[in-house]
Amino acid sequence: MAKCSFCSGKAIYSKDRTSFCKKHFNRFFIKKVEKVLHMSKLFNKKVLIAVSGGKDSSALAFALKKLNENLASSRKNHLELFHINLGISEFSEDCLTSVKELSKLLNLKLHVVSLADITQKSLEEIAKNRLQPICGICGTIKRYLFNKFAFENGFDFIATGHNLDDEALLIFNALISRNITNLVENRVFKPSIPEKKLVGRVKPLYFLQEEETLLYANINEIPYSKKDCKYSKKKRVIKNREILSELEKKVPIKKALVVLPIKLSSYMKDQKKEEDYKKCKLCSYPTIKRDICRFCELIRVEK
Ligand code: SF4
Ligand code: ZN
Ligand code: ZN
Repeated sequence: MAKCSFCSGKAIYSKDRTSFCKKHFNRFFIKKVEKVLHMSKLFNKKVLIAVSGGKDSSALAFALKKLNENLASSRKNHLELFHINLGISEFSEDCLTSVKELSKLLNLKLHVVSLADITQKSLEEIAKNRLQPICGICGTIKRYLFNKFAFENGFDFIATGHNLDDEALLIFNALISRNITNLVENRVFKPSIPEKKLVGRVKPLYFLQEEETLLYANINEIPYSKKDCKYSKKKRVIKNREILSELEKKVPIKKALVVLPIKLSSYMKDQKKEEDYKKCKLCSYPTIKRDICRFCELIRVEK
């Protein structure tokens, strides 16, 4: 039986010739999250954690709470949870049950908004007759609602559960589609621009692989939904995900990809200049190079 490289305990995970027992795996996980907190100076801030009910964002909320417990009181973050009920039948019901359990376990305030209450439409109705895939529309809506809620409630940062695999895939897609904007935009954190009603973003799981967040969630018995959204299999990115996984078997490409935007940003000035953001004519929230933001176009402009 493999032993932990740091103690004589039973190893539950191995990586780069290092084995971890439960205690040392938890320590490894927290250190990776802490690294992002230092990079983004995320201390003594009001942080809204976007929880979907899935393993990544649930693991994120758990890790941020654990880290907070060990910080000096002047450095502790104020943490609250935010969930959007997308109204996707049993999937959304299960996610809602999980985030409620999580909120109870962590003793963190949970805010729930319902897409149907806000827009008077279901996700399917919004996506009907539109060329963009439903997941793209869902992503636009979630980003808009996270930002709006965080701005209106005075949060400094929105923390999301994107992991290293998600980020590597985004960067890989940006590279093969030669979408330089997406490549440099994809950062570990983005600061707030209050005058543009834009709340800062941080991805504390940026340096953790999907299998690591899954293991962290399971060994710590973190509540999360095991159901898949019925649209997840339709994602176009699945093909690229498979190509990336095949490449990863030969070279550690995922790690190389996620450091690209970080390296690039040190060579470039702050890529998204403030003047690139315009005010949406309908809702006054930020939009890039458009008069009406993507959310308003989806919700308020009839097709
Ligand atoms: Fe939204 Fe697509 Fe995720 Fe379902 S799979 S929650 S539609 S992004
Ligand atoms: Zn150990
Ligand atoms: Zn708008």
